[in-house]
Formats: sequence, structure tokens, C-alpha cells
Amino acid sequence: MSEFALIRAFLTDIGPPRADVALGVGDDCALLALPAGQLLAVSLDTLSAGIHFFPDCDPTAIGHKALAVGLSDLAAMGATPAWSTLALTLPAADDAWLRAFCAGFAALSNAHGIRLVGGDTTRGPLSVTVQVHGQVPLGAAIRRDGARPGDLVCVSGTLGDAGLALRGLLAGEPVAPALRRRLEYPTPRVELGLALRGLASAMIDLSDGLAGDLGHILTASGVGAELELAKLPLSPPVAEVVARTGDWSLPLASGDDYELCFCLPPAHAAQCQAFAATLDYPLRHIGQIHANAGLRCRLPDGGYLADSLSGYDHFAAGRR
Ligand code: ADP
Ligand code: MG
Repeated sequence: MSEFALIRAFLTDIGPPRADVALGVGDDCALLALPAGQLLAVSLDTLSAGIHFFPDCDPTAIGHKALAVGLSDLAAMGATPAWSTLALTLPAADDAWLRAFCAGFAALSNAHGIRLVGGDTTRGPLSVTVQVHGQVPLGAAIRRDGARPGDLVCVSGTLGDAGLALRGLLAGEPVAPALRRRLEYPTPRVELGLALRGLASAMIDLSDGLAGDLGHILTASGVGAELELAKLPLSPPVAEVVARTGDWSLPLASGDDYELCFCLPPAHAAQCQAFAATLDYPLRHIGQIHANAGLRCRLPDGGYLADSLSGYDHFAAGRR
């Protein structure tokens, strides 16, 4: 199949048609209308075979995740998804692979009303780059630099599931399907991000682990935080590993959760709680922002996790 036949067959009609797409796939550029009073929120991510997914990974999952990580970034800013572009590097034009990839990409596109408006297709080692474009009213975006002492630190979903699934797959062990879905089909928390406009003071999505990602908020905001590890939302399998090993690295420092971590002025807590009741995943208050810099993690027994200040590496297996 030629490059152009491939584009025509698979990529011209992904996601719902939108009135703000004056011209989509097929010309030198897409033409997009940004409504007055809105800013464009843009984010780009690459997934490479052998680094971000196993070379034999189900292509439907690759299509889903390639878009999901971008939608998670839009969610973390409180932006509404609008348009995507897709750079595909393929070793070959494999019909079945492309059909499955596009099924995953399209299903998530439809779920969030985001339209694929252009891209690039080349031959080479398998790699997928997606740029997402969202809209956010002037002044409404939720940035990393707005956390203030006294704010509650909150997180969505459960932490460490994707990391536990990845550990199992790397070890060649059987991984429970529900856990594997958390790694391969992450759910971007778009509706939560939008609901937190006007409520959250700062927000980030969790792609590299809570300690490191919350650390970005702390640095940007010039504050510190204390987390109560007993309050971390953990699925039963992750809770079992933590209880058995005393190692908190799964929930604190494993990647690919794509949950949202946000800071909430106490005055907004009731409104947030009311919204949380409408969700089918948990929202948990796990700690508090303080004026003194650094991240302190209080253990369930009242002590503190050693070396939590510098994050990531210090949570490597076996250390505490
Ligand atoms: P050009 O040579 O002008 O850059 P291309 O030949 O790369 O254009 O692409 C032709 C059209 O197909 C363009 O509108 C481009 O945006 C679109 N396109 C190419 N690859 C993809 C892709 N992977 N996903 C979506 N649209 C694509
Ligand atoms: Mg051109």
C-alpha cells in the first residue's frame, strides 16, 4: 500500500467531525478555529517500541495509550480536548496492525470528542508521536505553580497498578487482566480536570510516579508537602506488595498511572467532595502543602520514610 493510500484508508476519519475544523487531513495544513477567549493547550508525546511498550504489544492498546497520555496532559491543565495530530513511523504497512491501532485511537478519540486533523507517516522502527490540542478559557488553566501552604494534596484513582503490571511482565510472570489494563489502557481523567477549574490551585498528571511528579508542583510553587502514606489509595494487589515488603516505591515512584494529583484550598474541599461522589473512581486527600520546602512522607507507624526529599531514585526497590 502506498503512503497516500494508507492515509486515505485509515487516517482521514478518526474522531467525530467538529465545526471548528475548517480543513482536516489531506492538505498541507489543517485549518482550525480557536474560539475567542480561549487559549490553545498543546502537548506532545512519543511512544517507542521497546521503550514505552513491548514490541509485540496489542496495537489497539498502543493506539489507545498514544492518545491517552496526551489527553492526560490536557486533563492536568483543565483543558477541553479538541484536535490531535499523529506522526507514525512504521516498519511496514501492515493492514491488520493499522486497523487495530486505529480502532484503539479512534475509540478514545470518540469518547473525548477529539478529531485527528493531520500528521506524518514514515517508514522506520515502530514509533508513535501524538500531539493533542485543547481549549481552555483565558485564566482558567490549572498550572503547577499555584500551590499554597494549607492546601490539601489530593489524588485520583489508585497508585502503582501500572508499575506492578510492568514488573510482572518484565519478570515473565502472569499478570491479572485488570492490572494489565491499568498499564495498557490508562484512563485519562479529563472530566475531573475540567471539574477542578476554579477549585484546584495546582495540578499535574502522574506519568513518572507521585513523589517525583508532586515534586514538580512543589518546586514550581516554592512550597513543600507532607504526605500520609496510610492515606494513599492502593488497589489490593499493590497494598499486598507494600504490606509484604515495606517498600513504597510502587505507589510513590512507578510510572504510567495517569492519575491526577492536585492541590485544593480547604475552602473548596466540600465542592470537590460533592463532585467526587459522582465519579466511579476514588478521589483521596493524602497530605498537605507546607511553607518549608521538600516532600516528607509519614509512614503508617508514625515514622518518616528516609530520603523522601530527593524523590525517585531513592525509592528504588529495597530502600526505605
Ligand atoms: P506533506 O508532504 O504536505 O507534508 P503528507 O504527504 O505528509 O503531506 O501528508 C498528506 C496529508 O495526510 C496531510 O494532510 C497530513 O496531515 C496527513 N497525514 C499524513 N500522515 C498522517 C497521519 N499519520 N495521521 C493523520 N494524518 C496524516
Ligand atoms: Mg506539504
